[in-house]
Amino acid sequence: MFCKNCGKEVGDQAAYCPFCGSTLSDDAEKNAQAQRPAYEAQQPYPPVQDSGSAGWGVLGFFIPLVGLILFLVWKDSKPRSAKAAGVGALVSVIVYVVLMIIIGVVGGLMVAKQGVNGVAAVLSIL
Ligand SMILES: [Zn+2]
Repeated sequence: MFCKNCGKEVGDQAAYCPFCGSTLSDDAEKNAQAQRPAYEAQQPYPPVQDSGSAGWGVLGFFIPLVGLILFLVWKDSKPRSAKAAGVGALVSVIVYVVLMIIIGVVGGLMVAKQGVNGVAAVLSIL
């Protein structure tokens, strides 16, 4: 392979470039890039772990606040994962609102039909 820093040919297993001394292993490369966000911004596909995994959506769904925070933190560096977490949080909020509306409507009907007994029925749902 070739050194990414100076472009000279080095051994495939070399951890360091014998010509310029820059690190060649993947871990060292990631660490170096983490300290150079401007370099990442120039890459169309930044080499950060942006899996966009549905797991972030599930996390955002069950803990919307965490999903929102992850979305805000990742929206620049990990757009796909940020979107997954944000969508999960959004769906969670929508489901919560819909549930509240359903409970409110059903509860309202129960109270209207059954009076005080309906209030107890609503409380048992909640
Ligand atoms: Zn080099």
